[in-house]
Amino acid sequence: MYSNSEFRINKKPLYWLATALLFSYLIITASIYQQVKNTIIENKLNELNQHILYQTSLRQYINSQLKPIIYNLQKEHILSYDFFDPHLLSSTFISRKVYQIFDKKLDAKDLNSWKYRLAAKNPRNPVNQATPEEIELLEKFNSDRNLKQIHRVEMINSQETLYYAAPFNANEANCLMCHGDPKTAPKGLIEKYGSEHGFNEKLGDIRAFVSYRLNITESMLNANKTFLIISLIIFAFMAAFFALASWSYLIEQRRKGLIIQQQQELEYVAHHDFLTNLTNRHGLNRDLPVQLAKLNNEPVHLSNLWVIMLDIDFFKSINDDFGHDIGDLTLQKLGEILKTEKNNLEHAEAYRLGGEEFLIVIRNTDTKIIKALYKDICTSLAAIKIAGLNRIIKISAGATEAQPNEHQYELLKRVDQALYQAKEQGRARLIII
Ligand code: GH3
Ligand code: MG
Ligand code: MG
Repeated sequence: MYSNSEFRINKKPLYWLATALLFSYLIITASIYQQVKNTIIENKLNELNQHILYQTSLRQYINSQLKPIIYNLQKEHILSYDFFDPHLLSSTFISRKVYQIFDKKLDAKDLNSWKYRLAAKNPRNPVNQATPEEIELLEKFNSDRNLKQIHRVEMINSQETLYYAAPFNANEANCLMCHGDPKTAPKGLIEKYGSEHGFNEKLGDIRAFVSYRLNITESMLNANKTFLIISLIIFAFMAAFFALASWSYLIEQRRKGLIIQQQQELEYVAHHDFLTNLTNRHGLNRDLPVQLAKLNNEPVHLSNLWVIMLDIDFFKSINDDFGHDIGDLTLQKLGEILKTEKNNLEHAEAYRLGGEEFLIVIRNTDTKIIKALYKDICTSLAAIKIAGLNRIIKISAGATEAQPNEHQYELLKRVDQALYQAKEQGRARLIII
């Protein structure tokens, strides 16, 4: 019955909100993921630094405490000057050995240990021989003295491994006793290792670096679990926020939509006749000025506007003789006839002005069409079948054409006069003036 314009909610803001939330979620989770991983690596490196401190302390102890005692024993000829045994005199050897013992103990307890390695370009002990990649890194440490360490995560046999490398201190004079000219080196050293490897190092050069590898797969898995929990919590918060925002937005939109719908319904009710569903006099007051303005804006020869006013003859007697209900049904039937007629015309609208009085507004027509229209209405009206009504319904009509710049009241007054003339001249006719 009503125009029932299905009101649509604009969901665009919700799509934008969802996209913004999704993007922020991705950025937040990506940075959290990175943060969680960085924290693991930082913690591991802190552990390692402690570890290295123990090692350097051990080496310092060997160099500053152990070696001087041995040199003294040699000076006092208690020990041969040519005596050399790495177990006593090589700090790198000793620290590696200590590390091996430490490592075994960790392994026995099933604890994850840092795999220690020493790499030199020309080592005395072949186990310390640097690989091509390690030689490259050693050169890097030599060329950039500010580079105190490097670390990175590597995948080795699909295990995540943290790799850390730090250079030895640059060669000092006392280092060159055993690593400089083989001729001045302790004889025992030459006897044990020969004069080929571990010599001819230069003062100030970095001759080796230590590296450590730690399997961090398990820690990373734990980090992933932590990350997953955090990201799920954030997701839940964002989803809840989105749900709440969408819910209140939809409620608000629905409320606005209902108001618009109610306004449209009110507008419809105000401008339509309840009995016939035709536009009423208020509707005519709204439409006719628009039509007249349109007419005035168009060239005279291209457009015209006609109005036909119709009034059922002796309608009061239909009510009186057959009852008000039959009268109502007659009005409804006429309403249907007028709707069909106006739909058959291109620019026409039908109105119920009140009682048994109707009006049709037609654009771009002529008297021939007007007369044919009236005839059609009469024929249809004569043919209506209403139980209990055994009278042919007749109708009088007046028609007139709107004049340029004419006010609607003048136009309606003239068409009313035409209708009056039709009644005066004996009813059941159309008068055009
Ligand atoms: P005329 O040929 O001069 O037009 O005579 P008439 O009887 O048609 O005109 P009149 O103005 O004397 O009577 C109109 C009647 O229409 C009076 C009123 O009771 C009746 N009427 C007005 N509105 C309605 C309605 O909605 N339903 C019914 N059933 N009757 C209505
Ligand atoms: Mg009448
Ligand atoms: Mg009347």
